[in-house]
Amino acid sequence: MAATTGLAELAREAAGCTRCPLSAGRTQVVFGVGDAAADLLFVGEAPGRDEDLRGEPFVGRSGQLLDRLMAEELGIDRRRCYIANVVKCRPPDNRDPKPAEIDACRPYLAAQIELIRPVVVVTLGNFATKLLLDTDQGITKLRGAAYPYGEAHLVPTFHPAAALRSGGLVVAQMRSDLIRAKELLGWAA
Ligand code: URA
Repeated sequence: MAATTGLAELAREAAGCTRCPLSAGRTQVVFGVGDAAADLLFVGEAPGRDEDLRGEPFVGRSGQLLDRLMAEELGIDRRRCYIANVVKCRPPDNRDPKPAEIDACRPYLAAQIELIRPVVVVTLGNFATKLLLDTDQGITKLRGAAYPYGEAHLVPTFHPAAALRSGGLVVAQMRSDLIRAKELLGWAA
């Protein structure tokens, strides 16, 4: 229960956050969603339009693909994991988050990870992967392996938006990354 309470308190704090200029353009803060006691945490980039309106991460087209891959490769729905983003407010016109915005927001993600204590963190795309692995290397180089992340394992994979743009091969690689995550979770048959 401590994680649930801690996340609720943090979400309340984040709801009034003005640490960076993205706060001025948001409809609402998209803090995160899912099971506070989850073994699996997905970390995306930043909310888009659909997420800004709904207040939940990955509810647009990218989210539909993520939900499908989660169901098909892990046999779960989003209530069994936790989903968060690097940046909690929507960047205008869906532009990339700026370094100062990422810096301003990173304490929220760090606190989420500390409270949830996941076994596996799946980073979706460059922003989450570079931030959590503290590297400049890109996702294409980093994916296909697991990395130590504190007491957890970090499994980098593509952002579902990249899969929607590029199609088959990227989707297949995401599937294989999720199978790696499943094995590390001890969920593989
Ligand atoms: N893309 C992200 O990185 N996060 C979302 O929540 C939605 C789209």
